[in-house]
Amino acid sequence: MLTQLAPGYYLHKPDAVADLGALLSASGYRKVLIVSGSRSYQAAQTALESTLNHYGISWRLSRYQGECSDENCLQIVKEVGADWNVVVGVGGGKVIDLSKLVAWELTVPLITVPTLISTCAATTSNAVVYDTAGRVKESRVGKIAPQMTLVDDTILRGSPKSYFASGLGDTLVKPYEAMVGATTNTLVETSALKLAQIAADCVRDHGVEGLKAFAHETSLPLVTDLTDAVVLMGSLVGGLGGAVLRGSVAHAFHNALTMLPEVHDTLHGEKVAYGLLVQEVLLDRSKDSIHALRDLLIGLELPVSWATLTRLPYLPDLSVLRKLADWTLASPLVKGRLNTIDANRVVEAIREVEDF
Ligand SMILES: [Zn+2]
Repeated sequence: MLTQLAPGYYLHKPDAVADLGALLSASGYRKVLIVSGSRSYQAAQTALESTLNHYGISWRLSRYQGECSDENCLQIVKEVGADWNVVVGVGGGKVIDLSKLVAWELTVPLITVPTLISTCAATTSNAVVYDTAGRVKESRVGKIAPQMTLVDDTILRGSPKSYFASGLGDTLVKPYEAMVGATTNTLVETSALKLAQIAADCVRDHGVEGLKAFAHETSLPLVTDLTDAVVLMGSLVGGLGGAVLRGSVAHAFHNALTMLPEVHDTLHGEKVAYGLLVQEVLLDRSKDSIHALRDLLIGLELPVSWATLTRLPYLPDLSVLRKLADWTLASPLVKGRLNTIDANRVVEAIREVEDF
């Protein structure tokens, strides 16, 4: 059994980033490489620079452009050299995942500061690696998991609501996917399944209300739980349950979708939420349960049809649907688990989603 629980230190509160300088000093980290993006860095800049400068910590910023790819990682390492005590990743899922690649390449610890409530990337030990064209290459599990995660409500409150909705979608799918992947009744796997269900229940019970109240100060207690459901709980599920509980058809379909340029700007959780509908149709779930799921996704402002996913009015040609089906079934996330399902059935399922 392998569990990769991370981070060891999870601090979630308003102005959490103000504690970073003291935490770095206490760990003896004096030379800090920050990996961030332009917009994400803007969100954290004042608080981050103030705490680093206050504690006299030497730091350099490496700005991310493009994808979380091996090419971008090697480019950053080439530019900044190897003489760093720690990497601090500041941003959304792709930036954080790129900061993981950099930390693994430099073999130094990683601290993460999410600036969007969009995925559990900040607390997981795996990184979704893309090629330079923006297509998913693999989900890579690293040997070094994030050591600390600082979740700063002050920064997150100013983040775009659509990313929060996307994060809620990515969290809602977890028990649906984990149940497909679960293979044993061990205590650890059962715990992972229950955690996935608890996180999804939080989204189901409070997600719509939390999304509506997102930017209002009074929504803080509600949004705090939803934020932990997105940022922390997902990594506990994957960390305890391992690869088989980390994803299934919905994420395999998401990965296939990244091959299509027309969905390139669609958020991760939006593609995953749509992929969940395809999954549930494929697995012959009852019409009532799919209708209920669809209604919830609509309440969470997530896509439920090709048109709401891509803003294109019609499904693509059969040849494109076939490719999507083939790519989905070839994914390591579903291989060996859907033996009775072929590409024709996946194409049918995509069409059936349109009819709900
Ligand atoms: Zn995901």
